[in-house]
Amino acid sequence: MSDYVKELLAEVKAKNPAQPEFHQAVEEVFESLALVLEKHPEYRKAKILERIVEPERVIMFRVPWLDDNGDVQVNRGFRIEMNSAIGPYKGGLRFHPSVNLGILKFLAFEQVFKNSLTTLPMGGGKGGSDFDPKGKSDNEVMKFCQSFITELQRHIGQFTDVPAGDIGVGGREIGFMFGQYKRIKNEFTGVLTGKGLGWGGSLIRPEATGYGSVYFASEMLKTRGESLKGKVCLVSGSGNVAQYTVQKINELGGKVVTLSDSSGYIYDEAGIDAEKLAFVMELKNVRRGRIKEYADKYGVSYTPADPNADHNPLWDHKADCAFPSATQNEINGKDAQNLVNNGVFLVSEGANMPTNLDGVKIFLQEKILYGPGKAANAGGVAVSGLEMSQNSLRLSWTREEVDAKLKGIMASIHQQCVDAAKTYDKDKDFVNYVNGANIAGFVKVANAMIDQGLV
Ligand code: NAP
Repeated sequence: MSDYVKELLAEVKAKNPAQPEFHQAVEEVFESLALVLEKHPEYRKAKILERIVEPERVIMFRVPWLDDNGDVQVNRGFRIEMNSAIGPYKGGLRFHPSVNLGILKFLAFEQVFKNSLTTLPMGGGKGGSDFDPKGKSDNEVMKFCQSFITELQRHIGQFTDVPAGDIGVGGREIGFMFGQYKRIKNEFTGVLTGKGLGWGGSLIRPEATGYGSVYFASEMLKTRGESLKGKVCLVSGSGNVAQYTVQKINELGGKVVTLSDSSGYIYDEAGIDAEKLAFVMELKNVRRGRIKEYADKYGVSYTPADPNADHNPLWDHKADCAFPSATQNEINGKDAQNLVNNGVFLVSEGANMPTNLDGVKIFLQEKILYGPGKAANAGGVAVSGLEMSQNSLRLSWTREEVDAKLKGIMASIHQQCVDAAKTYDKDKDFVNYVNGANIAGFVKVANAMIDQGLV
């Protein structure tokens, strides 16, 4: 890292105290960009880095709602409109008690580069609330969503900012928010993505992030003449991304042996086949239960989460590939070492920033196939972009059409990473996908910012 970048990073940390996840995301990107800045002094002159870490707009608001007992509840809502150089702000909404400004800023920052990589015209944003949908009735979730969007509606729009789902925000929540938005605005537009199929949603959108992460893994494997066939895979999480990751791995002949939620994880040596996955989908999407029920039903091992442990035992099983698909920082240095020691030679990140900086260092030192989230999980936002296109055209593409476009986009993201890494990296024998993704994503946004002047 050059002195200039080091000083800038120190400034970002000082200016944004108590936002460790944001610092981490910026540090990772800055480390890659040192290589680009050497070759392109125009970025430094235009203060692109100084500008790109500063959100164009941050919206924070009160979300009051009435619970089923008639008691008043108050949550905090956010939308970070990070960068609109290449298109309207685009990125998910997260409803989880851990949500705060720093976490959403890290997610919005990552989103800028990810959206750029998709090749579609989308800027970066992210939002959400510290509201916890777990344990709430449908009625309470609806009341909260209506209150949340009643404020957010004045800041978003099909040409301005188009939110989607993320942790805790699936089809149910998008439906409640879309309904209230339409009622207030008196217009039916593609202001949110992840909509139901009968009212403007796109086929393959629910599957897109998980499928995309597996397509990205397949592209990485191809570079070593391999495929997923016969590979043993560790998957974390059991929500949207994890479920469709398992489905696609099964389809391609791999075997998934783990799934988790925030309470613990299951290990099923026989593999989570289609029938067991259907059970998980019903458990998580309909009954909204805990993954422990899988262990009870199929008689496999269940390990409760230990918040004081220095590692996550889910990552300590013999396997070939890992697909972290739950949340940020779920793989630390020790976990990364355990993965490598157990034979894992591919990590494709379905979740956003699931590996901390120590873990990333180990994957890069060991030269495994490591696909960082902003490349590997870009399939979700890519199909959201395709949903926007279909809404504008007022037509719907078939499942096969959307899936083929998704596959093509993931292959193109992979190629962009390889090309950028080859152009800028000193080590020509190894593809550093972290550098590749950061650089390829950055250059397009930086050039657009220069073209558009000081705004
Ligand atoms: P989801 O459907 O809400 O599922 C999240 C899963 O992760 C659940 O199993 C959840 O368990 C677990 N989890 C959440 N927070 C956790 C924590 N602190 N510790 C342990 N487990 C935790 O969300 P999702 O859409 O699958 O998102 C998963 C990840 O993918 C996130 O990092 C998200 O940002 C990223 N992502 C999602 C999309 C998308 O299209 N949905 C696109 C790109 C990236 P509990 O039920 O116990 O909380």
